Amino acid sequence: MFESLQGRVAIVTGATRGIGLGIAQRFAAAGIQVLVVSRVQEDADRVAARIGAGATGFAADVSDKTACQAMAEAAMLRYGQIDILAANAGIFPSVALADMTVEQFDSVMATNVRSTFLCTQVVLPYMKARQFGRIVLTSSITGPVTGFPGWSHYAASKAAQLGFMRTAALEVARDGITVNAVMPGNIRTEGLDGMGAEYQAQMAASIPTGVLGEVADIANAALFFASLEASFITGQGLIIDGGQVLPESAAALV
Ligand code: NAP
Repeated sequence: MFESLQGRVAIVTGATRGIGLGIAQRFAAAGIQVLVVSRVQEDADRVAARIGAGATGFAADVSDKTACQAMAEAAMLRYGQIDILAANAGIFPSVALADMTVEQFDSVMATNVRSTFLCTQVVLPYMKARQFGRIVLTSSITGPVTGFPGWSHYAASKAAQLGFMRTAALEVARDGITVNAVMPGNIRTEGLDGMGAEYQAQMAASIPTGVLGEVADIANAALFFASLEASFITGQGLIIDGGQVLPESAAALV
């Protein structure tokens, strides 16, 4: 079986809701101590108290360099080491390309891509010092594999994360650090709830398994990338989507 991750330390961003919360809970259940990060301190504290296992809440806007540095320093102060980063925080506001403003485009890129760079950069010195690290990005099928009207900025950001991942993985490969990505399909989260029941029904109908994914489906994959046994896997994206990207057409859905 897998070696224990008991006592390891993870930073999980966007951990107060949805997929990030699922990852934080799964990590804690595996004995990992989690710095629970979102922009709202009281939400982060509430989730940390709920998941237990030595978890601590920390408020940071991950698109901001100073906040990211403070986040890594807080983890070091509290736990003395950083073994795992789950860079998961992300936003997905929908707006048609014709109406998209520069501010809307930049906001999505800052939260989804700049944060990936900043969160990775701030943990690297601590991981390199111990010659061990597991970095798990939350990308998506949207952008790297598929498209969806209203999400051209989001799709670009999720594809950019994978480009970042491949080069980052090379730069740290000799330091015992891996960089991989989970690529969720449509997962039931508060964020997805905001898209409305009709969208969710439409999506479920396009998934070969017939149901939306659960946050645990993504969290289990993130835990695998974080495991000691995944040491020879780096620069890889794993699609977790119930087969959503497989059908060539609606006729292929049986
Ligand atoms: P969600 O339910 O909306 O949760 C987003 C989390 O990120 C919250 O904890 C939020 O807390 C935090 N967050 C947002 N902006 C932040 C910022 N600037 N700094 C720090 N924290 C921030 O989202 P989700 O559906 O779980 O999605 C999580 C990730 O999965 C995203 O990267 C998304 O692109 C990806 N994804 C989701 C799906 C899906 O079906 N749900 C599919 C593919 C990929 P605050 O707002 O309080 O800061």
